[in-house]
Amino acid sequence: MSYRILSKRQLAYKMKLFEVEAPDVASKARPGQFIIVISREGRERVPLTICDYSAERGTVSFAFHEVGKSTKELGTFEEGDRLLSVTGPLGNASVIARFGKVLCVGGSIMTAPLLLQVKALKAAGNQVTTVMGCRTEEFLFMREEAEAISDEVYVASDDGSVGEKGLDFLNELVSGGHYSRCVAMGPVVMMKAVSEITRPFNIPTIVSLTPVMIDGMGMCGVCRVTVGGRMMYGCLDGPEFDGHQTDFEELIKRQRVMLPEERLSSLLWEKSGGCKCEKG
Ligand SMILES: Cc1cc2nc3c(=O)[nH]c(=O)nc-3n(C[C@H](O)[C@H](O)[C@H](O)COP(=O)(O)OP(=O)(O)OC[C@H]3O[C@@H](n4cnc5c(N)ncnc54)[C@H](O)[C@@H]3O)c2cc1C
Repeated sequence: MSYRILSKRQLAYKMKLFEVEAPDVASKARPGQFIIVISREGRERVPLTICDYSAERGTVSFAFHEVGKSTKELGTFEEGDRLLSVTGPLGNASVIARFGKVLCVGGSIMTAPLLLQVKALKAAGNQVTTVMGCRTEEFLFMREEAEAISDEVYVASDDGSVGEKGLDFLNELVSGGHYSRCVAMGPVVMMKAVSEITRPFNIPTIVSLTPVMIDGMGMCGVCRVTVGGRMMYGCLDGPEFDGHQTDFEELIKRQRVMLPEERLSSLLWEKSGGCKCEKG
């Protein structure tokens, strides 16, 4: 099976979007699901959320932030290169129905897969407000795409260099917005903050969790999360969960468990030349 990269787009610094040939995945993919990519022999499994798919073209798209060895190496792949494997679709699809008014909040790289949900929610007859969160103006991407598919778009940056400064403005937005649902995809701290903002208004809030995951099929149990006091598997039960019931503190701690090893592995890879081809 060939997993050829058909297009590579630079979204922002260290953030890339690939469209890859993967007809088996494309024929079954739904918004909210993810894939596991292995770039080449001997490399680790990288779970990534599906950003788009076309059963007709037999393609899936995914966006990634180069945060460590595996994603940095993936970023060196070019159009025409082949990935060793793309497994999926994995996890449960998002619930897409006619909810009424939906607030979709994206942060950092996860804004890319969020837009697939925005599209599906619009097609289901919802009125959609999209919030695009980024660190600074340089990290804002796909704004035109978001504007083309949303009823309204807000931009927020950590430093206020573009749009609103931080997410505090969401308090005002949700208090008068009559939203019947919120979907948040982004860094865990951001999803936690959004869930706290919507909680007093009883707006059902769906978050897409990204615990450290290995097989993505429920066998290893590494991606355990606690939701509503119950242990769940991020891969089998998720990746989407009720943000008001999620134990975010535990998730943050578990995400950091391998930090020293991850840093070392990234450093060693960069020292070796940081190229996808074998170095002596
Ligand atoms: C269901 C799911 C969907 C995801 N979707 C996206 C996406 O669309 N785009 C994107 O950029 N990232 C996504 N991630 C996170 C992505 O998988 C990690 O950033 C990537 O595996 C890091 O690997 P690394 O070697 O580059 O970094 P490392 O240096 O190994 O790790 C950097 C940080 O990434 C996290 N991480 C490391 N390994 C894993 C792993 N196997 N599974 C999950 N997190 C890990 C940890 O918090 C770690 O501290 C998703 C994760 C999950 C579980």
